[in-house]
Amino acid sequence: MYELIQTDPRHEEVVTVLDEPIYKRTFDEWGLGFIVIKDDGGKQIISSDLTFDNQLYKLGLDNLKRVDETRASMIIDAFAKGRWREPYTILSDELYEDLPQEAVPEFSNGESLGLYPVNFAFQPIVNPISKLVTSAEALLRGPNNESPATILSQYSGIDLYRFDLESKQYALQIAADMGLPCRVSVNLLPMSLIMIPDAVDFLLDKIESLGLFSEQIIVEITEEEAITNHDAFHGAVTRLRAAGIKVAIDDFGAGFAGLSLLAEFQPDKLKIDRKLIQGIQTNGPKQAIVRAVIECCYSLGISVIAEGVEDAAEVNWLLEAGVSKFQGFYFARPSFNGFPQINW
Ligand code: C2E
Ligand code: MN
Ligand code: MN
Repeated sequence: MYELIQTDPRHEEVVTVLDEPIYKRTFDEWGLGFIVIKDDGGKQIISSDLTFDNQLYKLGLDNLKRVDETRASMIIDAFAKGRWREPYTILSDELYEDLPQEAVPEFSNGESLGLYPVNFAFQPIVNPISKLVTSAEALLRGPNNESPATILSQYSGIDLYRFDLESKQYALQIAADMGLPCRVSVNLLPMSLIMIPDAVDFLLDKIESLGLFSEQIIVEITEEEAITNHDAFHGAVTRLRAAGIKVAIDDFGAGFAGLSLLAEFQPDKLKIDRKLIQGIQTNGPKQAIVRAVIECCYSLGISVIAEGVEDAAEVNWLLEAGVSKFQGFYFARPSFNGFPQINW
């Protein structure tokens, strides 16, 4: 259909927004508009309201002319907003974001579950306006709360990738043991998805056997090293998404996780690195860059998360700029094999 649209001379400047096949689309933060093109050469456009991040936007193009509600526009409008979307939104962000913090009372005091073969600290990603937990990020830890770098540096080559992948079963297990009702984010090196055969099947198998939903899981790609096999990477990302798992680019604006990665693949979520966030309220260049990133993500239907917020001034500036999801010590520090209380 896309090729047909491209070859039809009535369509000009057709733009590809996403070119990965996503079998199970959720459309949760996407809007839908419709356009009617008349045969007489002139264009007549009927607009429907667009919804994004629960806000209504009117299409604001100059050549866009609102026409009276004809029967056709009513039918198409009903399709755009109608019940057919429901099965796809059941496991969308809304379900998990709609969970009040009270839903995790037993684990909200930073209480630890004890030791696991591999340990993780959980840090919430929050929406302070709706006071909802968007996700809990699992951060690798040693038995004495050692940092991820300390643990990962014990491995090299293929062993590193195998450990990185296989350790995720414990991140999922701890999340399942806590009964976390929100999404769970795990970190993976992109090479762990490329170098370990059946990496995606391994994750799906653990998710299922722990009674979790794949729609509840987010994989954060921490690109500290360049991706060597782009086809294999795309294949793995496509398979994750086909299963309903969301993908995030982590540490955007640091290291390799820059614009070229974003041009190469468009994630569901983008986490802006702390280096760009720190002190943003008084830093003009950071403000200009972050505003552009927000705008870019808006155009691509990508949800933005600000990482490493440490004070109210940063949060206030970012809220004003349109960011609604935050992770940082200001809201909660990571909690060892547990889930911390959130400072709203
Ligand atoms: P990340 O994925 O960006 O995780 C966030 C890091 O920032 C965490 O450090 C967290 O403690 C820290 N952080 C959160 N809020 C703040 C804040 O307000 N201020 C400051 N200064 N720091 C904050 P952590 O736990 O040391 O993790 C460091 C990195 O290690 C992670 O960064 C991630 O890239 C990597 N990592 C963690 N777990 C895994 C894993 O299972 N596999 C792989 N491959 N990498 C992992
Ligand atoms: Mn991360
Ligand atoms: Mn990060």
